Amino acid sequence: MRQRLAVGNWKMHGSLPENQALLDKVAVTAGGLSRAIAVVCVPFPYLAQARSALAGSKAASGGQNVSQYPKGAFTGEVSAGMLREFGCRYVIVGHSERRQFFGEDDATVALKARAVLAEGMIPIVCVGETLAERERGITEEVVGRQLGVVADRLGAEGLKASVLAYEPVWAIGTGKTATAEQAQAVHAYLRGVLAARDESIAASMSILYGGSVKAANATELFGMRDVDGGLIGGASLVAEEFLAICRAADG
Ligand code: PEP
Repeated sequence: MRQRLAVGNWKMHGSLPENQALLDKVAVTAGGLSRAIAVVCVPFPYLAQARSALAGSKAASGGQNVSQYPKGAFTGEVSAGMLREFGCRYVIVGHSERRQFFGEDDATVALKARAVLAEGMIPIVCVGETLAERERGITEEVVGRQLGVVADRLGAEGLKASVLAYEPVWAIGTGKTATAEQAQAVHAYLRGVLAARDESIAASMSILYGGSVKAANATELFGMRDVDGGLIGGASLVAEEFLAICRAADG
């Protein structure tokens, strides 16, 4: 069965008091959800705070990035084992900001996803095209390639334990949301790519949409056949917005 999810990506935002107020509300709202899981992916220094604020609740915490290496002389990096120790259940890999600003390529994203799985957590693998790529009509080629590299590296078992997020780069943080039909078309394509490898993986894979999701558009987006919830940036920092989006993911 496809897990419904509302995943907040706080990016590099937050402070101890602001976080506490938000996390306390997420913990309460998560308890009222019947089929969706609320997840908050916080900056590394706040993982301990998220773990303790969400302890005993139905909400989960996650990381926004991870090293592809398990340990060693990699100054500034954080391993999957460290994230697990701090209570992460999910880890975002391949976010377009990592690809764009930190030079992460498809092969690195695949290694990161594997590192997350090796520690028993769930990678949320992001794929998405730029505006120029959409305008050139190569959206499917781009997201198909991004997914293909990860799928090859993870194999069927790893893929089955992963979550996919379609995030058109032109819609992230821009206020320009893909229409529900645009999102559905790419989600259906991605599910088809998965089905060509393994029908059962395609049937069970959660595919989230991300890109300027708000309370006002979440219900329509999440109501599409192949959309199983969202990856939410800006709106996940505003309690009423994020909680309404969680409820929309719950259906
Ligand atoms: C994101 O951070 O993955 C994202 C989709 O951001 P926003 O919701 O702000 O577009």
